[in-house]
Amino acid sequence: MVKSAEELTALFRSRGLKVTPQRQVIFRVLSSTTHHPTAEAVYAAVRSELPTISLRTVYQSLNDLAAMGELSALDLGTGSTRFDPTLEPHHHLVCEGCGTIEDLHHDFSGVILPAPAAEGFEVNATEIVFRGRCATCAAHDHNAAAPFPGTPPSEL
Ligand SMILES: [Zn+2]
Ligand SMILES: [Zn+2]
Repeated sequence: MVKSAEELTALFRSRGLKVTPQRQVIFRVLSSTTHHPTAEAVYAAVRSELPTISLRTVYQSLNDLAAMGELSALDLGTGSTRFDPTLEPHHHLVCEGCGTIEDLHHDFSGVILPAPAAEGFEVNATEIVFRGRCATCAAHDHNAAAPFPGTPPSEL
């Protein structure tokens, strides 16, 4: 379960970290989304409530939370670090069109490391990344198909 803003605030306190209004809003933004936002996206959402907050403060708070193990900083090849507040092991669907990252909760425990890689390597966790196109991008691709057969892509 994603921690509530209250739980995260209590956790910050218990670890001797200062609980600022900025951090509280950042907690709230993070716990209200499943979209693995970038630091910039968190910043944009937080700024609607705290117009004077700096991107630097947002970065610092996200990095604090990641260092505490309260969220994951993911690099899934979308070009920016994505922050994931869901801590239980899970998998991801990455859209190569728009960069959307969705969670997938599914038991892939039957997936095993083949020999010879399995020799001497102890698996602790299996994280699977599916890359492709989300429904929105796939529908768009379909509609944007070449209007005339043979139209070179550069002219679209
Ligand atoms: Zn997409
Ligand atoms: Zn996730």
